[in-house]
Amino acid sequence: MGLDNTNILIIICNNLPYKYKTMELLNGNEVSKKIKIEIKEKVDFIKASGKKTPHLAAILVGGDGASMTYVAAKEKDCHEVGFDSTVLRFDASITEEELINEVIKINENPAIDGLIVQLPLPKHINEKKITETISYKKDVDGFHPMNVGLMFKGLRTFLPATPYGIVKLLEHYQIETTGKHCVIIGRSDIVGKPMSALMLQKNCTVTVVHSKTVDLPSFTREADIVIAALGIPGFLKGDMIKAGAVVVDVGITRIEDSSTKTGYKLKGDVDFDSVAPKSSWITPVPGGVGPMTRVGLLLNTLEAIELYK
Ligand code: NAD
Repeated sequence: MGLDNTNILIIICNNLPYKYKTMELLNGNEVSKKIKIEIKEKVDFIKASGKKTPHLAAILVGGDGASMTYVAAKEKDCHEVGFDSTVLRFDASITEEELINEVIKINENPAIDGLIVQLPLPKHINEKKITETISYKKDVDGFHPMNVGLMFKGLRTFLPATPYGIVKLLEHYQIETTGKHCVIIGRSDIVGKPMSALMLQKNCTVTVVHSKTVDLPSFTREADIVIAALGIPGFLKGDMIKAGAVVVDVGITRIEDSSTKTGYKLKGDVDFDSVAPKSSWITPVPGGVGPMTRVGLLLNTLEAIELYK
C-alpha cells in the first residue's frame, strides 16, 4: 500500500526519525456511492440498447425488524441504480413446502434475474433446503453449492456479497495483498470461508481462525490484514494487532441504546478506539463493510444478466 505525505507521522525514536503511516478510513459509504454510479451508467446503457432491465426479487418471511430493514435497503439500492425490484412477503406461518413452491415459481419466471431469500427464516423452515432450491443461475447471494464450487475454483460466478464487497473496498484503496498475511476471524459459509478463497486469489497467505483456535491473538498479531467476522462486539483489541495492520470489521451487532432514535446502535467486532490508532487502514462501523455488501449484491445482479441472459 502506498504512503503519501499527508498520512505520515515522523517520530524521533532513539534519536532516529521513524515513519509511521497514520490511520485512514476504508470508507464503504463513499466507495459504494461511486460503484453505484458506475452500475447506474451500465444499467442506463443496457436500457438504451433495448435489453432487459436487471430485476432482483427478494423473499421476506415474517416480521423480523432487522430483516425488514435489510430488505427495504436492498429495494432502495435497486431503485437507485435503475434495477427493477420485487419483494414477496409471506407470513411466518408459511410452510416449507409452500415456500419451496414460491422459489420454484421465481426460478421459472424469465422476468426475474436474481433472487435472494432474507435470512433468518422461521425455525420450522430448513434454510439450507430453501437456498439450495434457488436456481444457481439466479442465486445472486452466491450461496448455492454450484456457485460456491465455481468461486473456490476461481471461475466466473456470483460471489457472496460481503466478501465481494470487501475485496472491492480493498481494491479501491489499492491495498497491497500479494504476499501479505491475511488472518480471517470466523469460518462461516457466508463470510469467513468465501473470504479465505477470495484473499487466496488476491495472493495473500491466508489463516482462518475461529472459536476453537488456540491462542488466537498469536495469529492476529502476525497479520498484515485482519478481517474480523465473528459477531462479538469489540472482540479485536489494539494489543491483538501489529502496528500498521489493515483492519476490516465485518461485525454488526445491535446494542440497545435509548439515546438513539432507533433504540439501538450498531457495534462492530473491532474495538475501534484501541485498534484504529495502531492500524494503517480500518473500516468504521457503520459505514464500512455494510454498504459494500449491498453493492456486492447489485454487482451480482448485473452479472446475472451478463452470465445468463
Ligand atoms: P456466524 O455466527 O455464522 O459465524 C461466526 C464465526 O465466528 C464462526 O465461524 C465461529 O467459529 C467464529 N467465532 C465465534 N466466536 C469466536 C471466538 N470467540 N473467537 C474466534 N472465532 C469465533 O456469523 P457470520 O454470519 O459470519 O457473521 C459474523 C458477523 O458479521 C456478525 O456480526 C454479522 O452480523 C456480521 N455480518 C455483517 C455483514 C455486513 O454486511 N457488514 C454481513 C454478514 C455478516
